[in-house]
Amino acid sequence: MRVTVFGTGYVGLVTGTCLAEVGNQVVCVDIDAAKVEGLNRGVIPIYEPGLEDMVLANHGAGRIAFTTDATSAIAHGEIIFIAVGTPPDEDGSADLQYVLAVARTIGQNLGKRAVIVNKSTVPVGTADKVRATVAAELAKRGADVPFEVVSNPEFLKEGDAVKDCMRPDRIVVGSSSPSALEAMKRLYAPFNRNHERIVAMDVRSAELTKYAANAMLATKISFMNEMANIAERVGADIEMVRHGIGSDPRIGYSFIYPGAGYGGSCFPKDVQALERTARQHGYHAQILEAVEAVNDRQKHKLFELIARHFRGELRGRTFAVWGLAFKPNTDDMREASSRTLLAQLWEAGAQVRAHDPEASEEAQRIFGERADLVLCDSAASALKGADALVVVTEWKKFLNPDFDQLKAALKHPVVFDGRNIYEPAEVEAAGLAYYGIGRGRTI
Ligand code: NAD
Repeated sequence: MRVTVFGTGYVGLVTGTCLAEVGNQVVCVDIDAAKVEGLNRGVIPIYEPGLEDMVLANHGAGRIAFTTDATSAIAHGEIIFIAVGTPPDEDGSADLQYVLAVARTIGQNLGKRAVIVNKSTVPVGTADKVRATVAAELAKRGADVPFEVVSNPEFLKEGDAVKDCMRPDRIVVGSSSPSALEAMKRLYAPFNRNHERIVAMDVRSAELTKYAANAMLATKISFMNEMANIAERVGADIEMVRHGIGSDPRIGYSFIYPGAGYGGSCFPKDVQALERTARQHGYHAQILEAVEAVNDRQKHKLFELIARHFRGELRGRTFAVWGLAFKPNTDDMREASSRTLLAQLWEAGAQVRAHDPEASEEAQRIFGERADLVLCDSAASALKGADALVVVTEWKKFLNPDFDQLKAALKHPVVFDGRNIYEPAEVEAAGLAYYGIGRGRTI
């Protein structure tokens, strides 16, 4: 099929590439000329396992093209995806300016029947706004072109995006048009072969499904962080509790890891946006509000542990920080807990030596040159001259360090483990002090 994708970020680029991989002719449009120019030279703007090879192969085979020319891209697609950003507005609700700008562009250029598919995470009612925007532009130029608007929220996880896209566990399609649903089924047939993954529903339910999924996952995390904070006050180990509750199949083991708070481009903004949507409809979403508040507090947790250990004397100290990305296998630092920690350490007059396997370039872009930050190219070099180690992201390469070497490298033998990846007894046996999240009495 002929597919057009607006936006070459995490969602647009991965979606376009996976659709090309199964034989479709894909044109990806972005307003970021440098990104498009890079993609045409084979420079992939994000780190995502497996993505680079797939983009290069499909680009080489002529199945995917990158352009800034929206007019030709719209002329190409029988299916046109909108996969642009929906960042938080000043009041936390989703900012639809990019989605509606694409809708205007489509309306200004559409010359033949098309299915417009919204993949961006958008508040309930946005498909109606997109439909009205396209229709208004068509009316302005007196064009009578049939089109449908479908909601097809994206559930890929950064770090696993290609895998999730090639083997989705569900494909939510919101539409009231049988012909649009048929087109979507045809497009997704290669991903839907061994069992039915398409969950068809009305547009509004599809839009809410995405927010409900992210809000549920964020709730699980904040719930566990709440339990961890109780655990450390009562002298319990949250990791024991985690195993104890996860074994109940009604609860399950996934997504119940306590830690230094969730980040990323989705959970924080989506929980906030859903809470604002509820409020706009006269409903006070108490759970969502609490999920957000618990997470905001949790992002300060590592700094609190550090400040308490060093009795507030942080000026002039140096901290080795392992992990800057908001989670492993990505270079994405949007809303990452590391950013809260670094800001607090700098505010207290401390220096940071940080290592992240993929996010150094992004950190450089965000923080620029500063005297109190050294970006190190290895975990070991981050330890040089450091007082203590703080683990913020649970990259696999940090899971099994040599604790004797760690002890020898650090001026103060102490580890702050923001993701509970170490066994306290093992760390302590090497002569290091250990702080985790909710692991026995620290308060
Ligand atoms: P992103 O910021 O990585 O990429 C968005 C891209 O859209 C940018 O390259 C930007 O230049 C481009 N863009 C903006 N306006 C444009 C226009 N008028 N025409 C063409 N391109 C334009 O965003 P993302 O992380 O890919 O997220 C996109 C949407 O998908 C958001 O709504 C997000 O909430 C949702 N989502 C993201 C993820 C994720 O893990 N990142 C997962 C599921 C859903």
